[in-house]
Amino acid sequence: MNAHAPAWLTVPDDVNALRPDEWAADVARSAAGEVSVAGLPAAELAREFGTPLFVLSEEDFRRRARLFRDTFAEAFKRIGAEAEVYYAGKSFLCTEVARWVESEGLGLDTCSAGEMLVARRAGFPAARVALHGNNKSAAEIARALDDGVGRIVSDSLDELSLVERIARERGVVAPVMLRLKTGVQAHTHESIATAHEDQKFGLSMASDEGRSEAHEAAARAIASEHLELLGVHAHVGSQIFEPTGFEQSAARLIAFLAEIRDEHGVELSELDLGGGHGIAYTPEDTPRPVAELAEASADVVARECAAHSLAVPSVSVEPGRAIVGPTTFTLYEAGTVKDVRLESGAGGAVRRYVAVDGGMSDNPRPVLYGADYSVTLASRTSAAEPVLSRVVGKHCESGDIVVRYAYLPGDVAAGDLLAVPATGAYCWALSSNYNYLPRPAVVAVRGGEARLIVRRETEDDLLARDIG
Ligand SMILES: *Cc1c(COP(=O)(O)O)cnc(C)c1O
Repeated sequence: MNAHAPAWLTVPDDVNALRPDEWAADVARSAAGEVSVAGLPAAELAREFGTPLFVLSEEDFRRRARLFRDTFAEAFKRIGAEAEVYYAGKSFLCTEVARWVESEGLGLDTCSAGEMLVARRAGFPAARVALHGNNKSAAEIARALDDGVGRIVSDSLDELSLVERIARERGVVAPVMLRLKTGVQAHTHESIATAHEDQKFGLSMASDEGRSEAHEAAARAIASEHLELLGVHAHVGSQIFEPTGFEQSAARLIAFLAEIRDEHGVELSELDLGGGHGIAYTPEDTPRPVAELAEASADVVARECAAHSLAVPSVSVEPGRAIVGPTTFTLYEAGTVKDVRLESGAGGAVRRYVAVDGGMSDNPRPVLYGADYSVTLASRTSAAEPVLSRVVGKHCESGDIVVRYAYLPGDVAAGDLLAVPATGAYCWALSSNYNYLPRPAVVAVRGGEARLIVRRETEDDLLARDIG
């Protein structure tokens, strides 16, 4: 135990070991000791594409996409229902990844005109695209209708009126779902818990008197000639491990479907249980097997539908992080190494700060949510003693931390490559040009070959929008 490290971080027996949960399945140390992916060594990738670099395993992405698709389909088949998986594009989306999602038979969640644009560019069938968002613009709604997006997940009464008006102007019927605030408290960071009352997403199911917002929205959608109400949706939050949150949420959505049936005589056919399935960033995280989540969801849907005498609707789930997160690691080059004294006196505790050539501009999650990551020395193995270290970026903020707590070999020095696993979701997607750093490239690796799928920004890119 080290008083300056959290309880979950123990001194590793082998500081060179990779914990399989945190890495793509085809990442391993080569005979020479380098971290390699699909047979390609880290140093070769760094030489060819530069650092920082997002290294994405295509096989691993496809495998996880299929795993969700097949596991949910099988679990729901058992209860006589269909289940579809919509990949949450906001976690990481580019044209090539949209093509993989399409070819693996998943749907695609978008939440802006830009994300729909990527889907369109990838040739993604619009019928399998969903549009989310708590403040969709008229232009975004119009684009969704013109493209023929399969579902617009409506987030408010205001928006429902807007969708109705735009659909009427176009003489079309808008396929809508209602995003409901189920009131389920997810055990996760406040910024990523999304179903309690006091936050911006969804229609409230609570009412002191008369109809709740959610009931009012359903009534309006059912009454409108220009809206087709498909069903209901809830997203409890992100990085969730316990199935209980999903189960409670599903139960509340199904109770709502029953109320709508009783009030309007209509049985809605779609039930979207959202995303948020957690992944392992550190040994503290203990994700459940996908099958366990799928079975738990199928059980609760079967039970609650039976209790309300409802036919089981078509179910969808929307994992983002759980598909792309572990497929990717970020490769950095180490620079300045500094020992920081934590206690005074001889023999007092020291924390080693290892600075890398990126930071909060390519991974703002530690700053935003206090997110923890792991890290390994990627360009070689080391027999040096593990040292309590902190990997920091090169930005002008002391909060610019990439890996808050880790043991790294004591001989890590400038020029070494460090790899931070599980950076596939919400890292590139949230990246910025803070301090005028160019955003990193994303390289897809498969069968011993690497290809650029998003190029690194250049200095010209950095100046391109500056009128001068
Ligand atoms: C963010 C989001 C998701 C995906 O969340 P993950 O934690 O990446 O699985 C799914 N559905 C909706 C509506 C979201 O906003």
